[in-house]
Amino acid sequence: MERFTRFLKVPNVVARHDPVVQPIYQSSIFRMPDHQVAAATEEAVHPTSYYTRWGNPTVSYLENQLSTLLGCNATLVFPSGMSAITTTLLALVSPGERILASRALYGDTTRFLVEELGRFGIEVDFFDPSRPQHLPELLARGAKVVYFESISNPELRVADFDAIRSACESREVLTVCDCTFSPPGVLGEKVRAADLVIHSLTKYMSGHYTVFGGSVSGWQALIDRIWHKQALYGACIDPQAAWQISQGLKTLELRIARQNATAQLLAQRLASHRHVEQVFYPPLDPRPEVASLAQKYLTGGGAVITAALKGGRAAAVRLIENTEVFGLSVSLGGITSCAEHAQSMSHSMLGAMDASTLSDASVSVPADNLVRLSVGVEDPGDLLRDLTSALELSGMPVATRAVAGEFVKG
Ligand SMILES: *Cc1c(COP(=O)(O)O)cnc(C)c1O
Repeated sequence: MERFTRFLKVPNVVARHDPVVQPIYQSSIFRMPDHQVAAATEEAVHPTSYYTRWGNPTVSYLENQLSTLLGCNATLVFPSGMSAITTTLLALVSPGERILASRALYGDTTRFLVEELGRFGIEVDFFDPSRPQHLPELLARGAKVVYFESISNPELRVADFDAIRSACESREVLTVCDCTFSPPGVLGEKVRAADLVIHSLTKYMSGHYTVFGGSVSGWQALIDRIWHKQALYGACIDPQAAWQISQGLKTLELRIARQNATAQLLAQRLASHRHVEQVFYPPLDPRPEVASLAQKYLTGGGAVITAALKGGRAAAVRLIENTEVFGLSVSLGGITSCAEHAQSMSHSMLGAMDASTLSDASVSVPADNLVRLSVGVEDPGDLLRDLTSALELSGMPVATRAVAGEFVKG
């Protein structure tokens, strides 16, 4: 063989002993030992070593971690939360069928349901997952799938999982729950959220704001059905990204314990601050129906706190511009703290949607005085001081604030 041929054929070095950390199989293809194995693998469901769009050992490792953590049979991992959501829904419904969805979903999910599935003749009705009394009546319209979120965003209302499940089970309707806001450590270990549980791994699960990912977990037969669409649509995560999420996931329990404790403290302090109109934090929610669902289903309040400020939009914008430890960023769940203005940032896509569609569905755009905070693992005292001083500035009229700003700088 020529030198360059020999060079390209240098055999892989395989560890003599099992590596402590799952290796990254950064390979799009795997060498088959013979044709019989190749042909059989071609026919297999979710083979882990054939063609990485269909499966990859590093990705499977993450899928196994998630199945163990979430207490379910099987998991599929995707390159983003949105691709997990869109692929799952496209696998479950066909033109002419109906979906019954929460009226308070992640903005892009609402957009996908109404605008994209609408293009394929799939109809969507809406319900309130915290008050699912009307569910049986709505299900009578023939929905195939009920889709909701465990904790709504930005008002942080907890879904009534048991009531939703019992209404759906009697009609054999599949339930799908986006649990991004309630990872293990927030949602109780025994709570069965839905037949299929979705996560944006971009948030708490990876935890460090370095990577995108999504997952769907549930029964093997359903997951296999979704896998066929995932492989066909090409919604495969890169092994490097899957590996990063796997490493982040290992400290989930520690991170969440810290985030739960700090967020609870900050939410309590915010609730009694004179510039704050209302604080939304599930365990402390002033609405008794939200607080009782939180008590029933959650083991921690999570990292996200939403605050309604007395000074309206101007005060909300001033607050997020005047924090130092809390960075002005849109995501949530990671180890560094973030603050954002829900109406113009995380939920701006609702503003871009047809207002009549939204009002028909009673989907509301968040109020303009809402600030959404995501608490990280920084020192709780630093976070409290940061919020308190930004709140003081947020409460000042603009002119006074300019003077105060100059004074501080000078
Ligand atoms: C972020 C998020 C998504 C979308 O996830 P990406 O990883 O950004 O695609 C879906 N649902 C909820 C509740 C989210 O917070």
